[in-house]
Amino acid sequence: MPVRYKDYYETLGVPRTASDAEIKKAFRKLAREFHPDVAKNKKQAEEKFKEINEAYEVLGDAAKRKKYDELGANWSSGSEFRPPPGWESYTDRGGFPGRGPQGQEYEFHFGGTGFSDFFEQLFGSRGARGGPGFGRSGGLAEEDLAERGRDIEGDIMVTLEEATRGSVRSVSVRHGIPCEHCGGTGQRARHACNVCGGTGQVIKTETYQVKIPAGVTDGQRLRVAGRGEAGQGGGAAGDLYLRVRFAKHPDFEVEGHNLVYEAELAPWEAVLGANISVPTLSGPVNIKIPPGTHAGQKLRVRGRGLAERAGGKGDLIVVTQIEVPSQVSEAERKLWEQLARESGFKPRG
Ligand SMILES: [Zn+2]
Repeated sequence: MPVRYKDYYETLGVPRTASDAEIKKAFRKLAREFHPDVAKNKKQAEEKFKEINEAYEVLGDAAKRKKYDELGANWSSGSEFRPPPGWESYTDRGGFPGRGPQGQEYEFHFGGTGFSDFFEQLFGSRGARGGPGFGRSGGLAEEDLAERGRDIEGDIMVTLEEATRGSVRSVSVRHGIPCEHCGGTGQRARHACNVCGGTGQVIKTETYQVKIPAGVTDGQRLRVAGRGEAGQGGGAAGDLYLRVRFAKHPDFEVEGHNLVYEAELAPWEAVLGANISVPTLSGPVNIKIPPGTHAGQKLRVRGRGLAERAGGKGDLIVVTQIEVPSQVSEAERKLWEQLARESGFKPRG
């Protein structure tokens, strides 16, 4: 099960030489267009939104972008990808190892988490934790036989809307398990097993409903008990852990349970004050910009942030920016000139 190369620059529609600002702008434009809350074809938009997010997760982060760029420019989208020698890859087959009864390695892949296998292999937290024998269960007599299965871990992309309302996600784990027909040996009566074709393993896909509780935080690990690797010799199964990675939002940055939104003001709005509309996760609200507002000032809209686990909500922090028109009409120029003549304002003392 090799992974497929992802061309993140192609996904965001930017050249490889794009600046950080250009990448951010391209992401925001696409994320607005394909945000599942606004798009018409929700299912299609959701897939696209996840691809855009994965691309921005990498290209929007200097360290990850550098690592990605080091792969070189000669990969084409969708081609079979094998990490170059020396890379931190978990196995050379593009999967992650489990272990069968004869010590052979099995691999697993996730579905429905929002991240591709390619991402998981290079940037994700996917992997198996705790070797065979870890957390061994059973009494003394069974000690040599009963082995608890390993825990497996992956990432799950969670939108801010999901984090604040909670949701249930369907996550599939595709993994090799020992073939029951031949007991994982690949042989039956001195012939290759006809069920597994002599490999000793069969691929099984299991789908679980994973509850994303309201109030989850970025980086939190969700435990799905007993959904890791099967135990051996009567040992208990390991657990599945999914690490929450917040999807990037086109409008908000996340700071703890608060959301930060940059509001761009016209110079006269900053001077005279204004009522402006700002987005929140539950639709736009109007806020009052007081007269004499400076750039970088922070206005707090209580209770419009992310849900907290204990109940309650964080705040929306509106950070003001002042935008200046790049071009003005002749009439506008006259008004600015008149203002310049009559104003007693001296910004430099
Ligand atoms: Zn078999």
